[in-house]
Amino acid sequence: MKVGVLAFQGDVEEHLEILKTLGVQTIAVKRPYELEIVDGLILPGGESTTVGLLLKETGLDQAIRKRAKEGMPVWGTCMGIILMAKKLLDNPIEQPILGLMDITVRRNAFGRQRESFEEEISIPALKCEAFPSVFIRAPIVEAVGPEVETMALYQGKAVLVQEKNLMGSTFHPEIAKDSRIHQHFLNLIKERGSNN
Ligand code: GLN
Repeated sequence: MKVGVLAFQGDVEEHLEILKTLGVQTIAVKRPYELEIVDGLILPGGESTTVGLLLKETGLDQAIRKRAKEGMPVWGTCMGIILMAKKLLDNPIEQPILGLMDITVRRNAFGRQRESFEEEISIPALKCEAFPSVFIRAPIVEAVGPEVETMALYQGKAVLVQEKNLMGSTFHPEIAKDSRIHQHFLNLIKERGSNN
């Protein structure tokens, strides 16, 4: 199994490290041809305005949309969930996004006084009572569509969601040094393998 991490900017190394400890091959993805050989793709935390523009410039946006539609698992963490949302609120400059998941997201929604914090959240679907979750200038998921499963909540808002082959988290499991959500993503790739 080969797992790609979008590697323009952000928490790329952190994701690659965790994936290596789980024993899978990894690829840093910056060009469409690199995407062709991966079985799943992670969009890391970072800066969505910059990365959205680079996705468009390199043509990776179209390539990711096509693979995601064909069933390739994609997981976005923090910046990644912003890029995956079909609807982005407060987006005055109309930054480019991928628009993959039926969710509505608001950027930097926790405000300045809570720019960064850590909380333990419960993820019943993973039988996990206390996942150490780091939120950094985190977005909020304001609404989810009917096909979207909410796997974890924080203060009544969805913070981990899944829609078929697509996953998003508003926090950073790559920083937590806890690989349980990464393992869930690898399981999703295994289950979906026949669709790719
Ligand atoms: N606030 C960032 C953005 O809008 C996301 C923050 C992050 O990934 N830690 O792109």
